[in-house]
Amino acid sequence: MGGDWPVSVQTMWKDPLPAFSGSDDPRLASIIERIANLQKLGCQIIRFAVPDMSAVESLGLVADLSPIPVVADIHFDWRIALRCMDFPIAKIRINPGNIGAEWKVREVATKAMDKGIPIRVGINGGSLPKDLAQEPDIVEAALAAAEREIEVLESMRFGDIVISLKMNEPDEVVRANEEFASRYPYPLHLGVTEAGPLVAGVVRNTAALVPLLKKGIGATIRVSLSDSMEQEVLAGKEILGCAGKSLRGVRIVSCPRCGRASFDTHAFTSRWMHRFYATDADITIAIMGCVVNGPGEARHADLGITGAGNSALIFRDGKIIRRIDVCDADKAFQEELDKLIEEKAK
Ligand code: SF4
Repeated sequence: MGGDWPVSVQTMWKDPLPAFSGSDDPRLASIIERIANLQKLGCQIIRFAVPDMSAVESLGLVADLSPIPVVADIHFDWRIALRCMDFPIAKIRINPGNIGAEWKVREVATKAMDKGIPIRVGINGGSLPKDLAQEPDIVEAALAAAEREIEVLESMRFGDIVISLKMNEPDEVVRANEEFASRYPYPLHLGVTEAGPLVAGVVRNTAALVPLLKKGIGATIRVSLSDSMEQEVLAGKEILGCAGKSLRGVRIVSCPRCGRASFDTHAFTSRWMHRFYATDADITIAIMGCVVNGPGEARHADLGITGAGNSALIFRDGKIIRRIDVCDADKAFQEELDKLIEEKAK
């Protein structure tokens, strides 16, 4: 990550890891399957909280089988960080406000260096080190906290550092990351902390992340939401798209629906959304409610569907290619989508 590498989308597992009976535990298989589905949607890194030693063993089994890099998130006990590094994790995240004394950070860094594991120093506006928590300017306090940890790591010649400076206010996130990027060469993981439920969280993250990404700041992002990991990943992909850093995939255009609609665009979009995001083809799909505006407004789409009275129309590049009963819409649309993807692959 960092440098010229594309910006990656990250999410965080939202439940405690169970104590698996072994590598054939079906609960482990189901976690790995969900991670694989997140990967299909565009997730490239997944982080797990590791609150105690029993969670470390479970994390180790997940890290062994995960199709994407696994990050261990450690808050209070540096010994958990040390033990995590006995497993094939890709990164360790520590919060200096919670991990405590410098010697503990040094112990973690010594082992990380030995194992070739990067450390993310996760500075969070809500859990700054005690002596900085009362500073009037949260941005300066966060930067001071980052600087302090960087000095410790650099004094050990440890350079495999990722920094995150997360706050709740988008403007503060922008200011902190811009300032950090002007002072240090280290890659930044971007996000807004405690961003809120789906709508508020996406808006707040977009407001903070798009301006930063457009300036080339940010190596990884996580859109933290009080919602599912899948929504976090989709929001992350859309934010990258808004910042002009689009990953390969489907761009969805769908109308909001109004009194002219004869097709339930909301239901169709919900049913298809995950399939679209999991499609590895650069195409635009339109889902429109009526013929009055539908195909015209979405003529730039590679493939679209729109309501037309009791029927639905499928169109390509603005031209109608099929009229179908609404009840056959999914089947017909799948056929046309398969054809389009096959053509694009040639
Ligand atoms: S495409 Fe038709 S149904 Fe959808 S918002 Fe526009 S006019 Fe309304």
